[in-house]
Amino acid sequence: MKKLFLLIALFGSLSSISFTQKNCPVIPTPVTYVTPNLDSESALPGIPLSLGVDTTNLPKNLYNQLSYLLDINHQMRVFVTKENPMIQFKKLKNAIEDSYTLSVTKTILISYSSERSCFYALQSLMQLIENKNNEPTITKCYISDYPNFKWRGLHLDVARHFFTVEEVKRYIDLMALYKFNTFHWHLTDDQGWRIEIKKYPKLTEIGAWRDSTVENHYTTSPRTYEKKRYGGFYTQEEIKEVVKYAAERYITIVPEIEMPGHARAALAAYPELSCTGKQQGVEGLWGVFDDIFCAKEESIQFLQAILSEVITLFPSQFVHIGGDEAPKNRWKKCEKCQRIIQEKKLKDEHELQSYFVQRMDKFLVANGKKLIGWDEILEGGLSPNAAVMSWRGFEGGAEAAKQGHEVVMSPGSHCYFDHYQGRGKAEPLAFGGYTSLEKVYDFNPIPKDMKPEQAAYILGGQANLWTEYIADFQKVEYMVYPRAIALSQVLWCQNKPNFETFENNLINYHLPLLEKRKVNYSKTFLAASTQVTRTNEGIAVQINSKRNEEFKVKKTPENFVNNLKANSSIAINRSQKPQEDAIEFTSGETQITEKIIIKNSPTLGLPVKLITLPNQRYNNGDLTLVDGNYGALPWKGNEWLGYDTSEIIIEIDLLKPQKIKGLELSFLKDEGSWIHLPTSITVSKSEGKKSKTIFGNKTNSQVSFIESNQFVPFSRKVSKLRITIHSKTIIDPGLAGEGHQPWTFIDEIRIVK
Ligand SMILES: [Zn+2]
Repeated sequence: MKKLFLLIALFGSLSSISFTQKNCPVIPTPVTYVTPNLDSESALPGIPLSLGVDTTNLPKNLYNQLSYLLDINHQMRVFVTKENPMIQFKKLKNAIEDSYTLSVTKTILISYSSERSCFYALQSLMQLIENKNNEPTITKCYISDYPNFKWRGLHLDVARHFFTVEEVKRYIDLMALYKFNTFHWHLTDDQGWRIEIKKYPKLTEIGAWRDSTVENHYTTSPRTYEKKRYGGFYTQEEIKEVVKYAAERYITIVPEIEMPGHARAALAAYPELSCTGKQQGVEGLWGVFDDIFCAKEESIQFLQAILSEVITLFPSQFVHIGGDEAPKNRWKKCEKCQRIIQEKKLKDEHELQSYFVQRMDKFLVANGKKLIGWDEILEGGLSPNAAVMSWRGFEGGAEAAKQGHEVVMSPGSHCYFDHYQGRGKAEPLAFGGYTSLEKVYDFNPIPKDMKPEQAAYILGGQANLWTEYIADFQKVEYMVYPRAIALSQVLWCQNKPNFETFENNLINYHLPLLEKRKVNYSKTFLAASTQVTRTNEGIAVQINSKRNEEFKVKKTPENFVNNLKANSSIAINRSQKPQEDAIEFTSGETQITEKIIIKNSPTLGLPVKLITLPNQRYNNGDLTLVDGNYGALPWKGNEWLGYDTSEIIIEIDLLKPQKIKGLELSFLKDEGSWIHLPTSITVSKSEGKKSKTIFGNKTNSQVSFIESNQFVPFSRKVSKLRITIHSKTIIDPGLAGEGHQPWTFIDEIRIVK
């Protein structure tokens, strides 16, 4: 009631105000946003902006920030005054943590509960200022706001590719614009050690530099290398400078020192800390490597000495120790590691890793810090005080919360910004996978079925930017924006508006802002896309576009040319002989061409029954298997069905008895992503409910490196086929994801006549 009264006092009467998220220029969308009703265009309630500021209740850092933000966003200057100030501040007592209110009437009043929330108010203010007829104006409104999650994070990998202090500062500055508060700085990995450690100078003298870097995607065969020395590191003085810069923007930097895996750069400098002691260079290839820190006491002392220096540089409560992707091959064969297992009565190498992490946990706790690690640290028992960053899905995080540990959700499905954001051919090389703007927007750090008492342990969420395929800062911005803006909504809003509203506000208010800040953001989410549907005779390809544009269509081999409106489609009928059909859509507006190539066959668009359902993350529907669209590496997700089971059963209805020679099945092999080829395939003639005869049985003894077309020969007349695909139940030792169920990715089944 008090709030309503206030609003009426501000804007006149109740009937003259509107509560709407629809045209809210501020992102993340505030808890409450109220504007006066607009009767007509002429009554536009913009007020001209003068910039006298009463600094009575404004801490010095915030005055500096206000000056900086007005300059960088709007090229405007503030001045201090007590005579009719435009902007005034008030400190709130007993308000919600990190809350603020902002009211714009004839003047601007910002009330805040903490310095941090005053900074958030300033960021909102920046987004409210518009340029109308070359006059800076601001629309009358009232905002009341506070964040939903405590941990609103973005991560940057500076090991695979190095970014300068200035670039890291810009990364932080843009984070601040969207009210992120945690910057996870991935400082060490196999390919480079990037932080000066005074006690161990060789870490940067040797570990910061590699002699070569793999070119193209690491799964490309054969691999080629750019033979050029590459590297860089931050001195401790530079680290302090970045920490201070972030603190002025109320952003905490969580440093990550990877252990016991992803340690090749450190081991290049200090090979005696590996199990074998063998001298190897800093790695120039991407992936997971066998040589990790030996679990012996010397390594533990070494890493604790490093952490001592790290914690003096970073005021953050949390220190990230990695803990992911540590193959146990070396530990299994190492006398020293095995001796610890015996002495400490550990069950296996996973418990040895748990012991290793516990030693770090105790050390950090004794120094007033908290340990956080990737969800692999759950394996072999979670250290008592540790927090978990869940990346391999939500399960690890859910389990940790159940055990009463703090959790940051960062699942690959929604939060990996090194994945593709679009499926078009023009998309620059990425790691693989597909995480669209809409997918990020759909993210919720709290899984639907989680109990409230466990949800209380979810600190928030974070997106990660691994930089294997991101060699320059322009591409960093391309991969992060606008996806980070969608994530800011997820982590800040209590009730975020629907995607369409968000997208409109993004387009109307934020793309211009990003342009002003010269951010190299991706426009992929605006591009047209194709969608395949089933018809009686085959498939239809529809062209979708958010704009009402017209496309020029070229279809081969018929040499069909026509114009087509957005959201209409072109049919392709099943052909009795294999052939390639291609449809090219060229946008009348942007001249961007979308091309879809269909490998046509007698199987195109036939009814398929998935007796075994794919994992829901990679269930793109049964049509995927007969749409003629073949996936390729790096995979973008949509062309494939992904299974995490060892037996897959699929039925295809041929509609009438047909004589066939065999079947061709196409699988993906990307062992770095735990995706393996199947071990055997059987095909049977399925009539009614019974499977009768086994025709073909094929094992994959000879397979190509990337993708495998498995031909299963048999010669019968059939009207229905039942295909059973068998895979291994666990990944072999020494490979990424060892001990886990491998994934099987299938994208196409084709009958051969
Ligand atoms: Zn060892």
